[in-house]
Amino acid sequence: MNKRTVLVTGASRGIGKACVEALASAGYRLVLAARSLDKLEEVANEIRTEGGEAFAVAIDLSSSESIASGFSRAAKEFGRIDILVNNAGVTKDGLAVRMKQADWESVLQTNLSGAFYAIQQVLPGMMRERWGRIVNISSVVGEMGNPGQANYVASKAGLIGLTKSLAQEIGSRNITVNAVAPGFIETDMTHGLTPELKQKMVDNTPLKRMGSPEDVAHAVKFLVSDEAGFITGHVLDVNGGIYM
Ligand code: NAP
Repeated sequence: MNKRTVLVTGASRGIGKACVEALASAGYRLVLAARSLDKLEEVANEIRTEGGEAFAVAIDLSSSESIASGFSRAAKEFGRIDILVNNAGVTKDGLAVRMKQADWESVLQTNLSGAFYAIQQVLPGMMRERWGRIVNISSVVGEMGNPGQANYVASKAGLIGLTKSLAQEIGSRNITVNAVAPGFIETDMTHGLTPELKQKMVDNTPLKRMGSPEDVAHAVKFLVSDEAGFITGHVLDVNGGIYM
């Protein structure tokens, strides 16, 4: 069987880690990317212990040079990347009136430009093969907005626009491009929120709980599968119903 190779960015923890674990148990070959190689190696070792194939590569999504060199190392190891999951993301919250230019730019650079440059790395191979899957991890706030997160929300809404444009541009090559928009998920990103704010979010969520990284990973696993071959340009909400 021709094993497909998936590259997941931000694979060292949280949602990205849950994605690589779910995809490895489904038989995919994994490339794990993030800045901290040590943590990636730990996750890759766990996958290998379970009998899977995994390669860890340090990539800083805020640098196009780092993206180009990291993807070429991954390609040397496993050949073509069949599936890209753009999951890495950062927040630098603050009110717009006081937001520093550096905080605006760095969030846009990592979350949106980084995802786009990663897509550019994998597109030629996917187009040649006439098969590919791209999943961009957006956010519920990219759909509904959120005060204090203008930079992050702009990056996440931008990912939705990117998803829909690309889906139209490359659909004829049998490449699907979709977004997953998680709601409130229990990871390092939400760890620092006050108990009061967490409770408020849970109260506003019809399913009355925070999501787990695995909830998001299941959606990603579906969208990259052969079974999802007629779904493109879609934004799949994994948010417990907080936004419909
Ligand atoms: P997390 O636990 O903070 O993990 C973020 C991951 O991204 C880490 O692996 C981190 O590794 C990597 N990363 C950060 N900056 C990077 C950079 N410049 N280059 C490469 N990798 C980088 O976050 P999470 O909650 O799992 O979030 C994953 C995605 O889901 C993000 O895009 C986030 O915006 C989105 N999301 C999360 C929630 C939520 O409630 N948690 C809700 C909606 C959407 P290193 O630090 O080692 O680089």
